[in-house]
Amino acid sequence: MRLTRKVFTDLALFMMGFGLIIGIIFPFFMLFIGIPRHYILTLPFVLSCIAAGILVGAMNILIARSVVGRRISSLSGKMKYIEHKLSSARSISDLEDCTDETCRLPVDSEDELGESARSFNSLVAALSNSIAAEAAVRDFTAMLASQLELESLTKHALSHLLAYLQAEAGVIIIERGGELEISSSYGISDGAELLKNQNLWKVMEGSDPRRIILDESLAIDGMLVNFRPREITAVPILHKEVSLGMLLIASSRPVDTQVLHTLELFTRSLSLALNNAITYDQLQKLAANDPLTGLYNRRFGMMRLNEEFSRAVRTKLPVALIMFDIDHFKRVNDTYGHTVGDRVLVNLAKISSMAIRKGDFAVRYGGEEFMVILPGASKKDCIFIAERLRHMVEESVIQMGESQIRVTISTGAVSYPEYECASEYELIKIADKFLYIAKERGRNQVVSD
Ligand code: GH3
Ligand code: MG
Ligand code: MG
Repeated sequence: MRLTRKVFTDLALFMMGFGLIIGIIFPFFMLFIGIPRHYILTLPFVLSCIAAGILVGAMNILIARSVVGRRISSLSGKMKYIEHKLSSARSISDLEDCTDETCRLPVDSEDELGESARSFNSLVAALSNSIAAEAAVRDFTAMLASQLELESLTKHALSHLLAYLQAEAGVIIIERGGELEISSSYGISDGAELLKNQNLWKVMEGSDPRRIILDESLAIDGMLVNFRPREITAVPILHKEVSLGMLLIASSRPVDTQVLHTLELFTRSLSLALNNAITYDQLQKLAANDPLTGLYNRRFGMMRLNEEFSRAVRTKLPVALIMFDIDHFKRVNDTYGHTVGDRVLVNLAKISSMAIRKGDFAVRYGGEEFMVILPGASKKDCIFIAERLRHMVEESVIQMGESQIRVTISTGAVSYPEYECASEYELIKIADKFLYIAKERGRNQVVSD
């Protein structure tokens, strides 16, 4: 029943109209209860009754305005505030000043108004959760896009997820060649034991997240963490319906159900990135060469060094290692740019290949750090080759328009078993130490003691 477009104006009209009717009826009611006519049927008395009725109506509307209207206007004020915030918010930080004072309504009555305030508060909470989740997913996706290496991808993904779920421990497991392997873990003390748990395969076979709420007294088979978890969430990571692995999260308190629902948004982006990283990892494993210089890459070099070192231990024949690093290479990049820096690296790789004998391997160990593996070379041999290489590099010139670019290298050289080492890693450590000494002594030299 509407008279105007304003509820309180309608209410005012109804209340004053009702007051008017009461004012008209009241004299007749007085007659009915026996008050003498000459008191009632006078113009001043009838007009007073009507005025009183209208006045009561007007008073009512004022009271209604101050009791109900104030709350409604507080509700509409906060709704407008939220609407403005949402339309102008670009990130979750824009909503951070949304406190109880500014965005929430007090629930101080057990009626429809209290109910509206409660619903409004829940709506704001749900909105702010969904904005927080959206921001977290956005950050997560941006992070995924910046990672290509499998290990670093899963490490960053896990730390984001643990922070979002406020969980203490977790692990990302991937399946490779029918075996499960831990790609990244946090807070798990015995990963190998965890992988023995047959239930993991059940998670891999399923497509839905499994949420295991643990009894206080229950022993956790395989989930060896440093605290007593209340809940373990296991989420398979599916790419095109194929299980790539899973995410296991252990938390000392139950994870919020709403937060858990948004987990799917995270795992969806994770699965795509994980699939790319696994493919990239497989390709890397297949590739033995560094794309820029064509030399063996670090992974392959390490594999070869391991083989050569084991052979040296077995056959008692020597194996030598030369590590070298370009001197002040940053200056080359800074002066001529990275592309020219790359040309210097390519040139250096060419020289290295020329300086070594058949059966030796030149490896790009890092950015501008190289390693040469010399099977069968004694200390004397490797110093000879290192000096030859140093000299060739020193003599080499790269013509860049008007300018000529020259670089020098600092080298560490070591031969096993003349230098006693327990492993190939120690051999690298020693060569690297000698290289560092060469830098300290003024660069462009070979150090072997
Ligand atoms: P130092 O004599 O102490 O070795 O001095 P440096 O300037 O060579 O110092 P550092 O080893 O710290 O610098 C290495 C530089 O090599 C920094 C990095 O920008 C550059 N670099 C690493 N990889 C590449 C690459 O693939 N291409 C180019 N152009 N530069 C690279
Ligand atoms: Mg360096
Ligand atoms: Mg350098």
